[in-house]
Amino acid sequence: MGLMRTLLLKASESRWLADHASRRGFAQRAVRRFMPGEDIAAALTAAEQLGERNIPTLITLLGEAITNRPEAEQVAEHYVDALERIERRGLKTQLSVKLTQLGLDISRDLCAEQLATVVERAAALGNFVCIDMEGSSYVDATLDLFRSVRPDHPNVGICLQAYLYRTAEDLDSLLPLSPSVRLVKGAYNEPPRLAFPKKADVDANYFKLAKRLLAEDARPEGVTPAFGTHDLHLVTRIRDFAEGAGIAKSAYEIQMLYGIRREEQLRLAADGNVMRTLISYGGAWFPWYMRRLAERPANLWFVARSVLG
Ligand SMILES: Cc1cc2nc3c(=O)[nH]c(=O)nc-3n(C[C@H](O)[C@H](O)[C@H](O)COP(=O)(O)OP(=O)(O)OC[C@H]3O[C@@H](n4cnc5c(N)ncnc54)[C@H](O)[C@@H]3O)c2cc1C
Repeated sequence: MGLMRTLLLKASESRWLADHASRRGFAQRAVRRFMPGEDIAAALTAAEQLGERNIPTLITLLGEAITNRPEAEQVAEHYVDALERIERRGLKTQLSVKLTQLGLDISRDLCAEQLATVVERAAALGNFVCIDMEGSSYVDATLDLFRSVRPDHPNVGICLQAYLYRTAEDLDSLLPLSPSVRLVKGAYNEPPRLAFPKKADVDANYFKLAKRLLAEDARPEGVTPAFGTHDLHLVTRIRDFAEGAGIAKSAYEIQMLYGIRREEQLRLAADGNVMRTLISYGGAWFPWYMRRLAERPANLWFVARSVLG
């Protein structure tokens, strides 16, 4: 892992930096590249605009590692309200949620309750909720909660990270549940004993897992694998593999983050792929933004330009 990536991922864990940097005008200007605004109205307006260009969306309220109960409950209430706004506006917008934002660090039961509140409201409105995957210390608890809600709720999916050695086994163990999986490379600072340190190995594992997700037995009716990546080489390999196997473009999704590879997102949508964009919003953007910078340290130029106004 490059030194800059390591430093940025370390910075993402600092509360002090989060408090100080989030108040700086230049940081707020720089983050706008990846975020249409801090409030849900901005996120839904962006979703509407993307929808007009045939790009469905996911939204996520930024924030993680919540340590008090009322805050976790407020997040669940926020998402219930978001689902209703989405319904009223007729948007093709799903939710993506982090379990530590729904109280996982406080208690598993509290988190399960908040998750159920959101997922049940989503089910009533015909919507879908994907559970994000966080740092490796949360993987067991996240899979465990997913396993407990999935049998009663087909409208909940899970994110898996290709950089972890364990993911192939996790996927095998989840397949009997017919899960809708979003596959990503993984965004956290993980040690080499848990995660492939070399990018080439992460990419190879990603493609291997993607092929597994596209296999017929992993895609029963209603289950759509999603490939969350901006790696165009991987996207091409997945599309070619799917086409070669006679899998319709509508049978899987490609997902990317708001503000990254915009032209490519439009091109993929125009080419008949289901291209879904994840829009983040909220005031607690610092750790998330540091992870975006770590993915591509060249993004620091945007920060530098914002400092200069
Ligand atoms: C929809 C979606 C949901 C996600 N959910 C999770 C999650 O729940 N848990 C988790 O750990 N991670 C999640 N991630 C992040 C993911 O793990 C990676 O960190 C991130 O997608 C970068 O990896 P990549 O696959 O794009 O490939 P990379 O090999 O990192 O990037 C490929 C190319 O894409 C471009 N690119 C990538 N990132 C950026 C960036 N930030 N800015 C500008 N260009 C960039 C660059 O040109 C780069 O060369 C999610 C990503 C997406 C798209």
